[in-house]
Formats: sequence, C-alpha cells, structure tokens
Amino acid sequence: MKIAIIGAGYGGMAAAWDLKRAGHEVTIFESADFVGGLASGFKEPHWDWSVEKFYHHWFQTDSEMMSLIRELDLDDKVIFPRPLTVMYHEGKFYPFDSILKALLFPGLGFGLDKIRFGFVGLFLRLTNNWKALETVTADSWMMKWAGKNVYEKMWKPLLIGKFGPFYRDVNMAWMWARIKARTTRLGTFEGGFQRFADLFADRLRDWGVEIRLGVKVESIKREQAGLSVRSDGKTESFDKILVTTSPNLMAKLSPDLPENYLKGLLELKSMGAVVMVLSLKEQLSKDGYYWFNLPKEAGFPMLALVEHTNFVPPEHFGGDRIVYAGDYLEAGHEYFSLSDEQLLEVYLPAFERINPEFKRDWVKKVWVFKTNYAQPVPLVNHSKNIPAIQTPIDGLYFASMSQVYPWDRGTNFAVEIGRRAARLMLG
Ligand SMILES: Cc1cc2nc3c(=O)[nH]c(=O)nc-3n(C[C@H](O)[C@H](O)[C@H](O)COP(=O)(O)OP(=O)(O)OC[C@H]3O[C@@H](n4cnc5c(N)ncnc54)[C@H](O)[C@@H]3O)c2cc1C
Repeated sequence: MKIAIIGAGYGGMAAAWDLKRAGHEVTIFESADFVGGLASGFKEPHWDWSVEKFYHHWFQTDSEMMSLIRELDLDDKVIFPRPLTVMYHEGKFYPFDSILKALLFPGLGFGLDKIRFGFVGLFLRLTNNWKALETVTADSWMMKWAGKNVYEKMWKPLLIGKFGPFYRDVNMAWMWARIKARTTRLGTFEGGFQRFADLFADRLRDWGVEIRLGVKVESIKREQAGLSVRSDGKTESFDKILVTTSPNLMAKLSPDLPENYLKGLLELKSMGAVVMVLSLKEQLSKDGYYWFNLPKEAGFPMLALVEHTNFVPPEHFGGDRIVYAGDYLEAGHEYFSLSDEQLLEVYLPAFERINPEFKRDWVKKVWVFKTNYAQPVPLVNHSKNIPAIQTPIDGLYFASMSQVYPWDRGTNFAVEIGRRAARLMLG
C-alpha cells in the first residue's frame, strides 16, 4: 500500500515505523521544518543538549514509549534522575514526591485530612474501574470522598491550573488516570527529546520512509481511485492516510467527513498552553527543586515553574540555568497576545517569590512557545464522545491526543495510539 501520514510527531512517527516494517510505502508530511511535534526542542549554539519548547519528561510507567525506544536500540540513552517536586503552603515550598514527604507535608495538618488524602490516593491507584469514575466530575467526587479541605488544598489548584474555566466539568477518570499512570522518578533522553526524535526520524529514513519537512497539507479528498493529499499546490494519491493533527485541523483538512463525525471532532474541548523558557545566569532554586506546583489562589501568575537544570545538569547548556514558566489557558486568554517582554513582566514577581535574591539581570534570554492544542478537556461520560480512529471515509484514519482517553495526553500515549492506528490500517 501507498500510505501518507500527516504529522511527524511521536504518533505519526510511531505509526510510520510499524507500517514501513510491514512492507508498505510510507510518506510523512510535516508542516514544520523539524520532527517531534509538541515534544520538539531547540538549542542555543553553546548548548550540547536541546531544551523542549514545552517542558517534557517520561514516567517509569510509560511502557509504550520505553518499548519503542528498546526496539530502536536507544535504551542506553534514557536516564531517570529523581528530581524534587514541591508544593506550596503558606509562603513556603515543601517536597512532595514520596509517601513519607506527603505525610510530612504540613498543608493538610496531621489528622483526619491526611488519612483521607492517603485513602483516596490508595483507592485510585488500586482501582481499574475508570468507567464508573467518568460518570462524575472530579470536583464532586473529590469533595465527597477526599473532603473539602483535602480537595481545596491538594486537587482543586491542579484542576484550576490545568483546565481554568472548565475545572468543575472535568470527569474523575482524568484524575484517576493521572494518579494511576505517574511515577515520581522522571525520565529524559540524553541530548533532549529533540535528539530522540531526530534519531527516530533517521531510523525511519534508513528504512525508506520519506519524511517531507516544511510541507503543509491543505486538504484530503476521497477520489475514485483512493485518497488524495493536496499540499504546495500539488495533489498526490494514496491508498490510506493517517492524520495526527488536532481534531479542529482534521475537520478543516477533510470537510467531506460525514456531519456526525465532523460535529464530534468540533465539539471536543481542549486547552492551549503558553510556556516561557528562560536561560538564567544563576540557579533559581537554591534547594535544587525541579518542579514547583503553584496555586493560582496564592497569586502566582502561572501553573508551574520548572527548573530544568535541577533535573539535568547545567553543564549540558554551557552553564546556563534553564527555567520554564508555563500555563494551560483557554483560547483567547490575554497571555496569547502579550509580547515576550510583557509576559516576562507578568512572570517576574513569581521568580522573586521563589528566590528573594533573584535579580532581573540574571535573565540572559527568553523564548515563548504557544499552542492552541495542549490539553484535551474530558467531560462527564467522555468515552462516548471519542472519535473513532477509523473515520467513516474508507482509508482515512485519525489519531490525536484527544483519543488516548482515559489516559492523559503524553508522548507515551501518542506512541500507543499511533501504533494502534497502524494495526487498524494493516487490517
Ligand atoms: C505544555 C505541554 C507539556 C507536555 N508535557 C509532557 C510530558 O512531560 N511528557 C510527555 O510525554 N508528554 C507531554 N506533553 C504531551 C506531548 O507533547 C504530546 O502528547 C505528544 O507530543 C503528541 O504527539 P502527536 O504526534 O499526537 O501530536 P503532535 O506532536 O502535535 O504532532 C502533530 C504534527 O502534525 C503537524 N501538522 C499539523 N498540521 C499539519 C498540516 N496541515 N500538514 C502537515 N503537518 C501538520 C504538526 O506540526 C506536528 O508536528 C506535553 C504537551 C504540552 C503542550
């Protein structure tokens, strides 16, 4: 078969890997000049490693990702350091990445609340019945079972940070999936995620996959003799096509899809993200903390502050300290239209709260990355609304972050759904 894949992110490349090895002719169309999609990175000339545009790490439970890496014989380049995650309580940050640290966290006192927090966490880790959990919102379930105090202190800030105005609508299966599939040990690739994506793309090319970078697909049409892809004013025929873009883009690319399917795509909700990356002259967290969970209620202008060089050594970045300040935001939020300089002004006070010695002249350079499609929002009974990978158009397939549910989006699940799509395409 002659197969086209739209998108050279992790999903598209994973599908290409299986389709090519099954003996088919595979062409990947990628609008960007690089592979890796949302998990891509960038590099300054004096850095040895790249930095992800949007902070990224793997969990030890990311089995799909790890087995693909093993197949590519690149597992000796995966590292799993143990960085420190901290929670905020009354002006201070407390480590929160082990059972012991959670027990010592003063934010929940040392009585009944801590016991409820522990039991709810344990129940969610042990149960597999996410179907029951998707029938209620995380807001109402947590309020009932964890209690008002625990919910408001621990879980509500996370929901608000991730889903903004939709935080009360997200179903409890999302929360279950987060607790179920995450570990405190976090992984990365030597050289950064971009290095992995580039090595993966090289391996695909070695096998004969054609990767066309900088080629934006404009439309996909069902023709008599197959499916056609239009890009750069040219039309080319394929037997099968896999699209790995956002649902919105899929609807635009293929308007001939039946109304029901199109409506399903367009009704899916998602949050965008705005992430600033800074290179600093000095270490921001003197305690060596990696991930700061920041509650908006305490006046922080972002959800997460992440000191990347407290996860991987600054020597890989010529001694620069790399810090992310990031937020999930609904389309149209003012941060999307601020200039880099204006956004820096909004964020700077938070740096001073993390380290009172922080000075503006520590900032060497900033980069700002924005995307409208960063985090799908799963509403109650979401499993009924997931678009099928095999679309109603014969030969046309769709695999995106919005379909990996009940799991939360991530490169691991992009690989899983890409390979699942490939299996369906192979029949
Ligand atoms: C802020 C943030 C933090 C994240 N943190 C993590 C993390 O810590 N760990 C983790 O594993 N995952 C994380 N993720 C999620 C992870 O990045 C995604 O789940 C994964 O990269 C999705 O891969 P994909 O192939 O499905 O889609 P994408 O990476 O979006 O790939 C789709 C590709 O299609 C291309 N494309 C779009 N339109 C066209 C067109 N018309 N023609 C041709 N090409 C087109 C795009 O350029 C893109 O390269 C994070 C994401 C965000 C936004």
